Amino acid sequence: MTDHNFADTFRHKGLRKKLVESIRLKGIRDENVLKAMEAVPRHLFFDSGFLEFAYEDKAFPIGAGQTISQPYTVAFQTELLHIKRGDKVLEVGTGSGYQASILYQMGAKVFSIERQRVLFSRAKEYLPKMGYSVKVFFGDGYKGLPAFAPFDKIIVTAGAPYVPEALAEQLKPGGILVIPVDEGDSQLMTTVEKLPDGRLRTDHHGRFRFVPLLGDKAND
Ligand code: SAH
Repeated sequence: MTDHNFADTFRHKGLRKKLVESIRLKGIRDENVLKAMEAVPRHLFFDSGFLEFAYEDKAFPIGAGQTISQPYTVAFQTELLHIKRGDKVLEVGTGSGYQASILYQMGAKVFSIERQRVLFSRAKEYLPKMGYSVKVFFGDGYKGLPAFAPFDKIIVTAGAPYVPEALAEQLKPGGILVIPVDEGDSQLMTTVEKLPDGRLRTDHHGRFRFVPLLGDKAND
């Protein structure tokens, strides 16, 4: 992620088109999601030695024991958010910055929190260079980002043991939180919608595998 140039060749574009078609075949319907995934060069979020893995529909290690989510999972979570241009979106778990870039590409104002210092620093430095103007914060995603709340949409990209109360609180009425929940091997993709009267409506959308949402860094 740090030592290669920003080349996005015809070959990369071709591989990306194929990847997006495969994701469409797996059931993703939101054309804006598919368009954003075709536009954002996923290989530029990988270390240069691993570029050939960037256009497989698989998760991949990004350092600090973390992974960039599988493209299908990124598409699935993003589709559940029903992103509209101008939406103010909070992401918990910046990681490589790929998911944040997809949201930015779709016209969202993106705020993203990361608890691993190296990943935070890398994304903060790298995203603006690629033209993705995402606001990246170092901190604990369980707490959300009260200073910038409320948000139209919130996405958690790590497996949470439960839905953190602060995140539901920081949703606007009509807002949607997408969060994989469960402490086991796999998580249940969960949406929490804040209804206009403030009540919360929870739905489930199948099981996925995520790295865990961890607690305060001081307790590592
Ligand atoms: N969205 C990322 C995938 C990230 S994997 C991408 O597109 O690449 C999950 C990320 O959540 C990891 O980087 C991990 O360090 C981070 N994380 C785990 N617990 C967290 C917490 N409590 N607050 C913020 N980030 C957290």
